[in-house]
Amino acid sequence: MKLLRYGPQGQEKPGLLDDQGRVRDLSGHVPDIAGDALTPAGLDRLRGLDPADLPLVDGTPQQGLRLGACVGNVRKFVAIGLNYADHAAESGMPVPSEPVVFNKWTSCIVGPDDDVHIPRGATKTDWEVELGVVIGAPARDVPEDRAMDHVAGYCVVNDVSEREWQLERTATWDKGKGFDTFGPIGPWLVTADDIPDPQDLDLWLEVDGRRYQDGTTRTMVFGVAALVSYCSRLMTLLPGDVITTGTPPGVGMGQKPPVFLKGGETMRLGISGLGEQTQKVVA
Ligand code: ZN
Repeated sequence: MKLLRYGPQGQEKPGLLDDQGRVRDLSGHVPDIAGDALTPAGLDRLRGLDPADLPLVDGTPQQGLRLGACVGNVRKFVAIGLNYADHAAESGMPVPSEPVVFNKWTSCIVGPDDDVHIPRGATKTDWEVELGVVIGAPARDVPEDRAMDHVAGYCVVNDVSEREWQLERTATWDKGKGFDTFGPIGPWLVTADDIPDPQDLDLWLEVDGRRYQDGTTRTMVFGVAALVSYCSRLMTLLPGDVITTGTPPGVGMGQKPPVFLKGGETMRLGISGLGEQTQKVVA
């Protein structure tokens, strides 16, 4: 099942993508793709609906029809750093002995194809394609072998990052990670039952048609189950919380010489089975 949110910014309605790639409206069944709708019981209820019975929404998603972030009312947007060994190497940092955890302010969240704005005065805005994990059942101190029971599904995240604020302006990384528009999420949330192995997904990102990132979740240092378990020791994970699981190599900071985003450029990124995002960069 592919769940999404469509419509103008701030007025998104819940929907699902049918087998023909059309949007079906879920407003009659859930207030939003958020909170309780994402618990195991909530998802079962949506699975029981026949898409053919749901109102068809006009427009082609991601073309005429804008999509918002695929999860609404995200209360925590947790991010994992240096979770691919080869990305740690290009960043000049050691592979961490346990997960590096940081925070993206939820006000940074935007739709998958919305513009990304370079912050005032910033010169080191960078890209990071990542697998996003959306929490379903609340998770508090869950062991790794039960962690996947708490996952509602997966989505594409661009963990947009401003490297000077992240790394050169005193602790913490958070400063460079949560500027407005730095959190495109979507296009859709693919429920976990449709992703048999989250540790076998290809991820890629291009800027103006040049491919910089081409990775696979097979090379993550800490897998999804380990990350959900670990984060659930640090905080209670709630339905609709998003954990973005780190980026493979090929970020701008890792190029020789480094390359950073400029106004007018276009990022395209995707993950196998989870769809694609396209963002224009605005200076
Ligand atoms: Zn990241």
